[in-house]
Amino acid sequence: MQQYNMVINGDVITSEQFFDVINPATGEAFAQCASANKAIVDKAVSSAKAAFPAWRDTEDKERVRLVNELAQVLEKNMPELMTLITKESGKPLNGLNGIGSGMELGASIAWTQVTGMLPIPVDTIQDDDVAKVNVFRKPLGVVASVTPWNWPLMIAIWHVMPALRTGNTVVIKPSPLTPVATTRFVELANTILPSGVLNVVNGENDVGVALTSHTDVAKIIFTGSTATGKKIMQVASANLKRLTLELGGNDAGILLPDFDIENNLEKLFTACFHNNGQTCACLKRLYVHDTIYDQVSQALANRANTIKVGDGLNEDTELGPVQNPMQLAKVKELTDDAISIGAKLLAGGITLDNSGFFFKPTIFSDITDGSRLVDEEQFGPVLPIIRYSDIDEVIERSNKNEAGLGGSVWSSDIEKAQQVASRMETGTVWINDHGAVQPDAPFGGVKQSGFGTEFGEAGLEEYLSLQTIKVCK
Ligand code: NAD
Repeated sequence: MQQYNMVINGDVITSEQFFDVINPATGEAFAQCASANKAIVDKAVSSAKAAFPAWRDTEDKERVRLVNELAQVLEKNMPELMTLITKESGKPLNGLNGIGSGMELGASIAWTQVTGMLPIPVDTIQDDDVAKVNVFRKPLGVVASVTPWNWPLMIAIWHVMPALRTGNTVVIKPSPLTPVATTRFVELANTILPSGVLNVVNGENDVGVALTSHTDVAKIIFTGSTATGKKIMQVASANLKRLTLELGGNDAGILLPDFDIENNLEKLFTACFHNNGQTCACLKRLYVHDTIYDQVSQALANRANTIKVGDGLNEDTELGPVQNPMQLAKVKELTDDAISIGAKLLAGGITLDNSGFFFKPTIFSDITDGSRLVDEEQFGPVLPIIRYSDIDEVIERSNKNEAGLGGSVWSSDIEKAQQVASRMETGTVWINDHGAVQPDAPFGGVKQSGFGTEFGEAGLEEYLSLQTIKVCK
């Protein structure tokens, strides 16, 4: 079985302990990863710390050149990395409407390239006979990146590229459920980057704790659950680490009465079910106006019944397995709860009879706020469709949820949709789409979905501190 080691200071670091990486389509291990302990984490952080001064002082032009080379590395190794992502995460190679590991690689390349193009400006606030005041942007030091299992490589790239571009060094800890593609990428990246600039450690949550509590870490970028985000925030306070927390979402989508069913149904279905609903900004609560409720619910259920669920290595698979048994148990629990309170099961509701963690895409109607499936993040292929009749009331209901990552409004009347969008308490609102992020537009949550921004110039700022230099004349 293929074994993956860690990379620290440009060296391959193994360990006495390895853990299995399971393919969720088979329920069996397909690889093993060397596991870190506290001493290995210390070594990774001290390597990143030692590499920082030279990397900080490297000209930005040179860092941009290396970031662009990393985009080429991703491109050259696309088939291998795609296969690894599919094996470890279950995400299909192609996937529902092209949302699969091929897209994950494509996005990783695009984000890397765009990160290389963003400006790092010097602002001149004053330049006259009295004084010259310039504001410079400086890197922070060692960045600890901790990633989840749903888009393992793409989220790693979202963390690593802006950190490197701005002159920080990085230690990344991937999810123990999906460590392989990220570890392989770091291995490849180390053929290009100076030693110690990008390091990877693997292991369970205790490795994450050792990394995020390390006093030589200046900043943590974390993507994962709200519960873990809160723990990280506590340990970060010890030496006032900077924080970006991209946490759980429970995104609402609101369909206005003039929703264009014919042209937008497939897009709506994809927004809810791509990657089996295991995307932070999937549409997770669908509010549909009374006048179109039955028609939309039935149309979505009909589509769910046509979906090809299977091993993601098959090119025509639209949805793969749920990523892990714990998540599958949560999906079943929320499904059982919805049935027990009398919600109407329109599609799915069953596990598929094979060795992987498969669950049929599931749709409930006649369910409302206050039920677990609506109020909690399901992070799986189960959609509640909720009826409403009054627009002010539905906005209030959608905002009542403690999450505030994304939201969407679907309507043929863009002006009306924009008015609704501006009243949603979320970091992003899409009109006639959902979850369509892009590398130059800020993305991040409010409320319990976290704080801080990724992407674009605002995203780069998260890895920089401002230094004002005032020359008095
Ligand atoms: P998780 O919080 O269980 O784990 C994420 C990572 O944190 C893993 O690498 C884990 O080992 C590590 N970890 C766990 N406990 C830790 C601790 N105490 N200290 C340091 N590290 C620790 O999350 P998950 O189940 O892997 O991911 C799913 C969640 O991530 C969902 O809630 C989803 O909405 C969220 N998510 C959010 C975004 C976003 O951009 N807002 C994107 C993707 C996923």
